[in-house]
Amino acid sequence: MIKKAGILGGGQLGRMLLQAAANYPVETYVLENDAECPAAHLCHHFELGDIRDFDAVYTFGKKVDVLTIEIENVNVEALEKLEAEGLKIIPRPSVLRTIKNKILQKQYYQQHQIPGAPFIITQNREELAQHADFLPAVHKIGEGGYDGKGVQLLREQADIAKGFDAPAVLEKMVDIHKEIAQTVAISESGATALYPPVEMLFDPTLNLLDYQLCPAELSTQTLYRVEAIALTVARNFKSPGLFAVEMFIDKNGDVQVNETAPRVHNSGHHTIEAHYSSQFDMLWRIMLNYPLGSTDAILPSIMVNIIGTDGHSGPVKYEGLEEVLKIENAFIHLYGKKETRPGRKMGHVTILSNEKQELLHQSNRIKHTLLPKA
Ligand code: ADP
Repeated sequence: MIKKAGILGGGQLGRMLLQAAANYPVETYVLENDAECPAAHLCHHFELGDIRDFDAVYTFGKKVDVLTIEIENVNVEALEKLEAEGLKIIPRPSVLRTIKNKILQKQYYQQHQIPGAPFIITQNREELAQHADFLPAVHKIGEGGYDGKGVQLLREQADIAKGFDAPAVLEKMVDIHKEIAQTVAISESGATALYPPVEMLFDPTLNLLDYQLCPAELSTQTLYRVEAIALTVARNFKSPGLFAVEMFIDKNGDVQVNETAPRVHNSGHHTIEAHYSSQFDMLWRIMLNYPLGSTDAILPSIMVNIIGTDGHSGPVKYEGLEEVLKIENAFIHLYGKKETRPGRKMGHVTILSNEKQELLHQSNRIKHTLLPKA
């Protein structure tokens, strides 16, 4: 029997999930409040509605056999009711409840002895001001902080005015050597598979997270530590699903967990071409109760996010597309967004090569050639 699967959210992650769904016997449903969203035209059934609304999510959930998310900002109460009524939801709503709120998320790590930067919980700015001696630190709003809007670096007392006047986590500033992410897959029966960790490479001039190298360059000792931590983070959620665990390696070589996304994630885009089973393929295997796929890399890779060019807002035209299409080891993904805006994720390109120099060369070239402009 063909299963009906629902996705809450219709962005690029939903779109790529649907591309992978085309290989399986599954009928797909998407809920999103924008009929022109990236996933709208790739699913069997598109439903217009707000993923944060109880009734919209509940009604949508009643139409499917299995449900997943592509963003955490969904109505968890509706998911809890659906789960109580027997619907399979991946990840479980309890995971979303914990992860949606950064205070609960940090407390979860603490409860499970998962290493992370020391933190204090602050209810408002007045309380924050009492902790000036804890700076330098990073203030992270508990709920509703998306697209980098929920994080403020507080270096000194004068920065406290920039802090959030709402429940938040005040976390010690980590002296970061590397930012990495590792995705863990967990099946319904509890089988696990780990993708190799990826390493974020920053553009020093723009200070943007621009490139992502796979596999991350780590000592064997650090790799084992990272894998053990990522597995502990994911397993303790007691839920099937995909878990992208973001970690810092600090200047002492210690591993600190930053946050986890219980879903397909930007840090796994390269797996489409660079790994035997992509993160999207893997999530279908989990949802449809098939064996987990192989997480092994076919070749090392770099993924470049294609971001809306500064000073350009409006209907998009891709400058440099033909030139990039001529690069034989580059795989181009444009997300079908009609409008570009500065900083908007418009697509990504994955480059495959055994040579790191070639990966770096081509990724830089692509970053400066393929430009979404209005
Ligand atoms: P978001 O949910 O917006 O992605 P993150 O918690 O991932 O927020 O923080 C965004 C960025 O801020 C991280 O990628 C990292 O560069 C920096 N950051 C976050 N926490 C710390 C910390 N404790 N110390 C130093 N830098 C941090």
